[in-house]
Parts: sequence; C-alpha cells; structure tokens
Amino acid sequence: MSHNLPFRNPMDKMPLQVITLPQYPTRQVSEFSPFAEIALAYFNCVQNVDFKLVEVTRVGYDISYPKSTMHVNFDAKSKSGKVEMFYAELKTPSLNKVDEKGIVIQGCALLKKVDTGNPLGISCMICHDKVIHPGPKDGYNVVLGDKFKDSRFWLYRPSTGLNCSTIREDTIRYMDKYLVFAMKAVKHLNCKVEADWELLVVTRVIDRMEKCRIIFHMNFTVKSSNFNNETKLCFAEFILPLFSGHSPDNWTMEKEPFLEVIGCCIMEKDANYESSFGRVCAMCTSGLIHPGPKYGYRVLARDDFAMYDFKACGNGVF
Ligand SMILES: [Zn+2]
Ligand SMILES: [Zn+2]
Repeated sequence: MSHNLPFRNPMDKMPLQVITLPQYPTRQVSEFSPFAEIALAYFNCVQNVDFKLVEVTRVGYDISYPKSTMHVNFDAKSKSGKVEMFYAELKTPSLNKVDEKGIVIQGCALLKKVDTGNPLGISCMICHDKVIHPGPKDGYNVVLGDKFKDSRFWLYRPSTGLNCSTIREDTIRYMDKYLVFAMKAVKHLNCKVEADWELLVVTRVIDRMEKCRIIFHMNFTVKSSNFNNETKLCFAEFILPLFSGHSPDNWTMEKEPFLEVIGCCIMEKDANYESSFGRVCAMCTSGLIHPGPKYGYRVLARDDFAMYDFKACGNGVF
C-alpha cells in the first residue's frame, strides 16, 4: 500500500518558530542619578563639604509598599577634583519618580578600600553582591559619613542571623558544665591520630546564640605521655542545637549526643608568627585564644581552621 504522506523520522526537528517575548526595558544605573543627587546633598550638608555627583555605578533595591529601599554606589568629586566612592541607603515611595519630600535618606558614606575582602563576610539581603557595602565582605571602610553600624553586612559567618545581645562570656565558675564539651573534643583529637591526649582543665568559653543553635569557642588544656606530659593549649569550636524545655540540671546528659565538634586543634605559641595585623575572631570578644597571627599561636595538630578569619591578617574594618 502506498500513500502520499512523506516519511518523517521522529528524530528530525521541526524548524523552531520565533517566539516574541514581551520586552521589558532594562534600567540603566544612570537613571537613578536623581536619587544619588539627593543622598549627596544630604551628605554635603551634614559633613559640611561640597562633593559633586560624577555618576551612579551600582544600584540595588527591593520593591515594597509604602516605601522601597534603595542601596546605591556612586562616584562624586571633591572641590579639588578627587573622585571618591560613596554608598547610600534611602527609602523612596517610588523607584521611577523622584519625590523629594517622600524620600528618606537613611545614610550616606564615603568609602575606601582597606582590605582584599573576606568571603566569610555577609552579603546585604537586598542587593546581594550587586552593590558594594562597607564591611568585611567587600573590604571597604567608612571614611566619612554614616557608619551603618547595625547593618548585617558588617557581620561574618558563621554568625548569620545572630542576635549580638546574646553574646555571653562564661566565667570559670561554670567551667564544669563544659567538661562534657571538652571531653568530646579530646575524643575528636584522639580519634584520627594515634594519640592519648587527656583533658586537664577548661579555661575559657564564649558562646553565641543563633536562631536555632549555639556556637561555642573554647580553650582547654591537655597532656599526653607521648609528649612528656607537657601541658598544651587547645582551641575548639562546637555547635549545639537549641532545645525547648531547657532543664539546667541534666542538660549535658540530654544534649551531649547533639553536640557537634566542628573543629579542634592543639596549639603552640610562636612569637615570630604573632602579628598586630592579625584579625580577631568574628564571634568572640577577647580573651579566648584562637590559632592565628593575632595571638601568635600555631596549630600543632588536628584541624587547621584555614578558612576562618582569625587565621588571616588584615587591617581597617577588621
Ligand atoms: Zn544593599
Ligand atoms: Zn572565637
């Protein structure tokens, strides 16, 4: 039987039809110049200076009612002709129309690059990485103007979402409570290498609460017969989930299985390694010794904490 329909291999492709998508105009950053002008006028007034806008370089915003938030970078020129970089935050009833009366300038600052930037720094939730903010992420500091000191972009991980008011330093009176922590860390020290480190004493603990967990940094001392029973100082990091129905009397027994040793190392002081440019830990205030140039302690064994800011040097915002 014959038929007139041409044979079609199902693998043959039909020519694609051209589909026309609706075109949305992409907005040029230069369109946001009027907003930058207002922020700069505020800056000039408050700081008693006279900068002129050169150009807007980056913009980030969220669209919300009644006012949207806008974060903007722009370049401006001083009287002497020197071009500087700025960062400003404002609230505006419209992203299209410049309503001078409705716009609220939340802050404006002249920024300067002081560091290479740190991947552990936290991005702004509105712009992510579209705009350069002051803080450790991009390595910029505020030279003149508003400090934005309560902004998230000044923070580091692993402290995302933390509430700074919950930082608490435990005194030596509570150290017994942390023996369970230290014992777990010693197990961690002994498990991968042929070692028999014994716990001596917990010397310092700092904890910081996040939304659903607590991070602990701890110093304790150990000794080992393989190392002439010399006392060695250790640093360890732990994470403990938050529990409801907190029961202080038996909490260590209940929670021990959930306690996670993130890292632990044995350290030794090396004065040549110590540097006044060493960074402090993003989480701890002071007093707790971390491996790194700040305190001049080298890692002798186990985890090296290589990605942590306290292992690096830097100045300025850090
Ligand atoms: Zn932002
Ligand atoms: Zn720390």
